[in-house]
Amino acid sequence: MDVVVIGAGLAGLSLAHGFQQSGARTMVVEQAPADRPQGNGLSLMPNGLTALHALGLGPQLEQLTRGHSPAGGGQRTPDGRWLYRLPARAVGSVRVVHRAELHAVLVQALVPGTVRFGVRATLVDPLTGQVQLQGPGIDDDPSGGGDEDPMVRADLVVCADGLRSRARAAIGSDPGIRYAGYGAWRGVTPAAVPGVEPSETWGRGLRFGLVPLPDNRVYWFAVRNGPPTATAQDAHREVLDLFGTWHDPIRRVVESTDAATITWSPIEELARPLTTLFRGVSVLVGDAAHAMTPNLGQGGNQGLEDAATLVRLLTRSAAGAPDRQVLAQLLARYDELRRPRTQRIARLSRQLGRIASTDQALLAIGRDALLRLTPTRAAAASIDALADWRPPDVGDGVVPPATRPTLSA
Ligand SMILES: Cc1cc2nc3c(=O)[nH]c(=O)nc-3n(C[C@H](O)[C@H](O)[C@H](O)COP(=O)(O)OP(=O)(O)OC[C@H]3O[C@@H](n4cnc5c(N)ncnc54)[C@H](O)[C@@H]3O)c2cc1C
Repeated sequence: MDVVVIGAGLAGLSLAHGFQQSGARTMVVEQAPADRPQGNGLSLMPNGLTALHALGLGPQLEQLTRGHSPAGGGQRTPDGRWLYRLPARAVGSVRVVHRAELHAVLVQALVPGTVRFGVRATLVDPLTGQVQLQGPGIDDDPSGGGDEDPMVRADLVVCADGLRSRARAAIGSDPGIRYAGYGAWRGVTPAAVPGVEPSETWGRGLRFGLVPLPDNRVYWFAVRNGPPTATAQDAHREVLDLFGTWHDPIRRVVESTDAATITWSPIEELARPLTTLFRGVSVLVGDAAHAMTPNLGQGGNQGLEDAATLVRLLTRSAAGAPDRQVLAQLLARYDELRRPRTQRIARLSRQLGRIASTDQALLAIGRDALLRLTPTRAAAASIDALADWRPPDVGDGVVPPATRPTLSA
């Protein structure tokens, strides 16, 4: 089977590895250059870790995290009081990684040359799997040269092109993107800051998170309600104006982070849930399928679940030429397995964001009082509820056609 993956993010790269392991000829096209900076952290939840193992990426993961999990964690008030604290065993199966390092490990796990950086793809026909490429060495390269045919045809096109997916519109109706009302600065300290406990601190319309990486550098995020753009040129100034009086070590970690590496992201999600994740031989995975707010730390993890599900469903077809009818059944099954779960998690994440981001004094007081009363076991159970996921067991790989809504486009 020939697979073209559009987008070398977490979802596209991990999926490409799974398909290569199953014997599919797989090419990944990525519009960005190979050396783009990706300077922040990412929490891999137990469900995402299960997916990575199912995709054959367990050894790479261990190499990256050295089995390191956060030492407990919990919720604090801006003056530093703990609202609740989780014991280390409650988060023992979570891993936190540096995105750039994860990305590099995922690229290295692929057959050399699999990812074509600097190449932009357009899904021309989702029914036939025709994709148009543009970039260095390709026939219509505007900078001249190149004799490679810009049109490629694949047995399966996986659209892993992220939040601003262009392929989404070709596969179904694209509802567009909605701004959540808050945005986040993110940074990683250049050196270890020993003794930092993972925590999230909620104020009014403001939140700050501290997450130690395996080598004790600290990944931090600072969330504020307001317009989707950051205003000041100087990220240090803007973050410290809002959070500089909050508990230790918030000021220290922000000040020690090189301002040029601090990034700002408006928090956005799909404006409405999609009505289908596939059309013909083309399928959506990751943020392209279900961009969600990061309040549950599940966006990337859900992309990993998508990847493991799709690879598992198609594993019997991967080594040969797929039967179109069987492929259609399997993509329908993927849609049936993935759409309800990802859309439910996106909804939960949005609801949690509303509570966490409230700037109403009374609501914030009530929220904190409730958190203070939350038994540790209940807080740990909320992590477990999402963690309980396994890739599908597909027996001989052929499943009966699923009932699904008709395609909207
Ligand atoms: C503040 C914040 C914190 C977060 N924290 C977490 C967390 O802790 N845990 C977690 O699981 N998730 C987290 N997320 C969500 C997570 O970052 C995303 O869900 C995840 O990165 C999406 O991966 P993806 O592969 O689907 O898309 P992306 O990473 O966006 O990759 C898509 C790729 O496609 C490429 N592309 C797009 N169009 C084309 C084209 N036409 N041709 C070629 N290439 C193309 C893009 O350049 C890009 O590289 C967070 C998000 C934010 C904003």
